[in-house]
Amino acid sequence: MKKHNFYAGPSILPEYTKQKVAEAVIDFAGTGLSVMEVSHRSKEFVAVMDEAIALVKELLNVPEGYSVLFLQGGASLQFLMAPYNLLNKKAAYINTGTWASKAIKEAKFLGEVVEVASSKDANFNYIPKGYTVPDDVDYFHYTSNNTIFGTETLKDPEVNVPLVCDMSSDIFSRPIDISKYDLIYAGAQKNLGPSGATLVIVKDSALGKVERPIPTMLDYRVHIKDGSMFNTPSTLAVFGCLQTLRWLKEQGGVEAIEKVNKAKADLLYAEIDRNKLFKSTVPNPEDRSRMNVCFVMTEGNEGLEKEFGAFAKAKGMIGLEGHRSVGGFRASLYNALPIESVQALVDVMKEFEASK
Ligand code: PLP
Repeated sequence: MKKHNFYAGPSILPEYTKQKVAEAVIDFAGTGLSVMEVSHRSKEFVAVMDEAIALVKELLNVPEGYSVLFLQGGASLQFLMAPYNLLNKKAAYINTGTWASKAIKEAKFLGEVVEVASSKDANFNYIPKGYTVPDDVDYFHYTSNNTIFGTETLKDPEVNVPLVCDMSSDIFSRPIDISKYDLIYAGAQKNLGPSGATLVIVKDSALGKVERPIPTMLDYRVHIKDGSMFNTPSTLAVFGCLQTLRWLKEQGGVEAIEKVNKAKADLLYAEIDRNKLFKSTVPNPEDRSRMNVCFVMTEGNEGLEKEFGAFAKAKGMIGLEGHRSVGGFRASLYNALPIESVQALVDVMKEFEASK
């Protein structure tokens, strides 16, 4: 039976990526050695890193004056690294969910944090609007896509201070104007590749302004100087990221994939809104994530949740369980998920409704 992979991360990757990684695990670039066995300083691996960085720049239209890094430690380490490098006295954060809260917690180790708005009052089921970001902060941090709660900010916030963004779960899903940002970071394990690599895009001129000494491994300038090779990078993960970047280019890049992502999300939300057994956890359609679609049973039908879970699983739907803090279901529709999988889920939801 065909499996439809809706996991939130690590998550579905293109067949192309899996095939190329499988080949390179046995014989990498004609070396006769596995990609796991060659030095990160070999000319073959340096070529992988160089091409991966070049493709990130090409696909996201990264302007001059920015550096692209492949680091380790996940987005969770970036929660700390970002303020270490950019927060002098005060930073503004918007609290839109678990990951944003974790980012706030780390920033507080290094300075004052102004929480400009929070949607905690409604279990993070909306994106706060109409907040004010003070002019005297070093930067404003937001999470573009809230993986757990299924909300997304599709338009760059308009602020007068440097922008910092955790784009872990929607980077490469649509075009972004990088020039508006001082720093963007993302764990690889959703739209990019296997876990183990963390993508950082940083404006060079934003660095070197904080007064504190920065421990070597946490200093972006150290990694920039050494081309993401200050210490041993996650070679297999970076190789996997490169394959996905090549695949994405072949699909027509972020503009083309955005159209597909929109069509996939529209298809599923339309069914959730139509089907009398299900409802979205995010009431305002404007705030609904294209990447992580969260839904629960409607009032009176809560008792059917387990049954639907088992029904969908038996039809090949994998990874649909909602995060424990939301409950219900979460279908992650990352770039590599074909629209056929979304249609298959919609069909299963219709079939389940008809059986009741
Ligand atoms: N930020 C967001 C939006 C995420 O979805 C995740 C993980 O799912 C993280 C941060 C944490 O990433 P990592 O596990 O790479 O540290």
